[in-house]
Amino acid sequence: MNIKEYKDIYVFCEIRDGKIHDASLELLGEANKLVSGRPNLDYKVVGAVIGNVSDEALEQAGHHGAWKVMNFRNEGITHYSTEIYTTLLSRMIDESKPDILLIPATVLGRDLAPRLAARCDTGLTADATKLEFDPENENSSLLYVTRPAFGGNLFGTIVCENTRPQMTTIRPGVMEPLKSDAAREFTVEKKDVEISGIKELVKVLEVIPKPHKGVDIAKADLIISGGRGIGDNFKILREVADKIGAEVGASRAVVDAGIMEKDVQVGQTGKTVRPKVYIACGISGAVQHVAGMEKSDFIIAINKDPGAPIFKTANIGILGDALEILPLLAEEIERIRQ
Ligand code: FAD
Repeated sequence: MNIKEYKDIYVFCEIRDGKIHDASLELLGEANKLVSGRPNLDYKVVGAVIGNVSDEALEQAGHHGAWKVMNFRNEGITHYSTEIYTTLLSRMIDESKPDILLIPATVLGRDLAPRLAARCDTGLTADATKLEFDPENENSSLLYVTRPAFGGNLFGTIVCENTRPQMTTIRPGVMEPLKSDAAREFTVEKKDVEISGIKELVKVLEVIPKPHKGVDIAKADLIISGGRGIGDNFKILREVADKIGAEVGASRAVVDAGIMEKDVQVGQTGKTVRPKVYIACGISGAVQHVAGMEKSDFIIAINKDPGAPIFKTANIGILGDALEILPLLAEEIERIRQ
């Protein structure tokens, strides 16, 4: 492998409900940030889309920062297939030789990326939270990929020096997407591909969407989260949340206790959120929780323990019983609004 032949940053654009998944849009944003920070590499950002998707979806990738959108099409691709996707992307890698390939760490991406890395005999850093080019050498395209390790207590930075592409999966909600801009220039390359020779060991026959319960907390502007200190008193949290138009989140302690559902868990093994305001109630502020909410614009913490680590992350800390303070806070917010 002559790694000098490899160029550009490719982003795997996952399709969800006919549109590009938000997590892929975030990666297009991050890829643009990387290339604009190192103009001497003269890299471009390419989006790779699989399936017979609409022109709107392909344009969506362009409007969010793909300079070129490659779309691999075949009538037979109706659902995600590990084998088909791996084969098509490894063909793309053989032909186009991307230096870097970013894949969202969604359920699909976590299935696809390791298989693809093994097929291409290259390295993969999974679940990254930070990307930067080699800070020591401004002509280098070596990617420094940082990810949490040992339960979030340590961060490791990993490089893939000898093989290409440099592959990484990135947690949804961590990187910033670009604002959609219809004036952005991009090209679309649709390719009809052959899939008849690909042996599928596992075949998805049908996708049954899970009934949608409320708003996805990853997209909420205002979140009130409760932890072990709230126990099974989430009714109070919900009442306050309804009053002020917030979504309710939770720490892993209450999810593990079966009090709240996993899809509202905030943190390293839950969702990454970045609301305008995050109110943490009865949450101690373990690193694994903070990893999922520290990018919120404004953080309010309510805790009985003056030594709780959450106070180090919070913009405002309120010392006391959250179950008494929350209703007062809601009244105050309502008063200010009127
Ligand atoms: P506790 O740590 O028990 O804190 C409860 C807090 O409530 C205390 O600070 C206490 O002073 C306060 N309190 C008690 N009563 C009141 C009251 N009436 N009013 C106000 N304050 C009160 N955790 C996550 O949250 N998300 C994750 O994604 C996650 N992933 C993990 C991944 C790994 C690999 C590991 C090892 C752990 C992970 N954890 C995660 C768990 C994490 O380490 C903590 O155990 C967890 O966040 C603690 O939850 P908590 O703050 O609700 O509970």
